[in-house]
Amino acid sequence: MRLCPYFSMSRKPLAIEHICPHCGVLEDKKPFVGEHCIDCTLKRERKSWPSEMELTRCPKCGNLWREREWKKVAPSLITALIDEKMERAGLEGHYNMEAQVWEGVFTSAGAKIPYRHPLKIAYKNMQCTTCERSSGNYHEAIIQLRGDPIRVERARKRLIRRIEQKTFIAKVEPMHGGVDIFVGIKKDIEVILRREGHKFVRTEKLVGQREGQRLYRSTFLLRLEKPIEEQERELGQEENETKTEE
Ligand SMILES: [Zn+2]
Ligand SMILES: [Zn+2]
Repeated sequence: MRLCPYFSMSRKPLAIEHICPHCGVLEDKKPFVGEHCIDCTLKRERKSWPSEMELTRCPKCGNLWREREWKKVAPSLITALIDEKMERAGLEGHYNMEAQVWEGVFTSAGAKIPYRHPLKIAYKNMQCTTCERSSGNYHEAIIQLRGDPIRVERARKRLIRRIEQKTFIAKVEPMHGGVDIFVGIKKDIEVILRREGHKFVRTEKLVGQREGQRLYRSTFLLRLEKPIEEQERELGQEENETKTEE
C-alpha cells in the first residue's frame, strides 16, 4: 500500500493501525502482542503452556518428592518452582497459589500487558520412604534361603549380622523349605552375599513408579545344599543300609 506523503505527515498514517489478522479487532479496542490481539495470542499460546503441576506428596508427613528424594517443601518454594517452570517456557510473571492462576505479563512494544492463565496443582499421594519404613513394611530386597536347614540357619545368622551393619531388616519370615529375609535398602546386598561366598539367582520385580522412575524389588535366591562330603557320607550310609537289608 502506498501512502500520500503529505497525508502521512499531517495525520497518523493508516498503515500503523493494527487489525488482528485472526479476529479482526482493532488495536484501539484491545491490547496487542506483536501482530495479534491479546485474546488471539493467549488462545494460541496457552495450548503449549502447562495447565497443571503434578506434585507427589506423602499424605502422612506432607513431604514432597523432589529431585529424586523426599523433602520438606514450604508453600513459597512451590510457588518459586512454578515460576521457574514458566520462566523456562519463556514467560514472565508470578504464580498466585491461592487463586491457582499464573499472573503473567507480555512485554510488547515497551508496554506490559497482563493476562491470567489457570494452573492447578494436582497432588498425587504416595507414602514417603520414612513413613513407609516406620510402618514396618518397607523393603527393597528379599533374600530367600532354601535348602539344608542347618546351612540355612547358619547363613541366616551370619547374613543378618552383616546386613545390619549397612541397613535395617524389615522382617524375617520362616518359609516352606527355608527362610525369607526382608531387607530395607538393597544397595550393599550383592557385595555382602559375594563376600560371604554365596552363589545366588537375582531377579527384579517392578513394584511401582515414582516421578517417572521405575522402582524394582530384588529377590536373591540362595540354594544351600548339604556339603558334598556330607551328601556322599549319607549316600554311603544309604548304600550300606540297603546292603545290610539284603
Ligand atoms: Zn484477535
Ligand atoms: Zn512421609
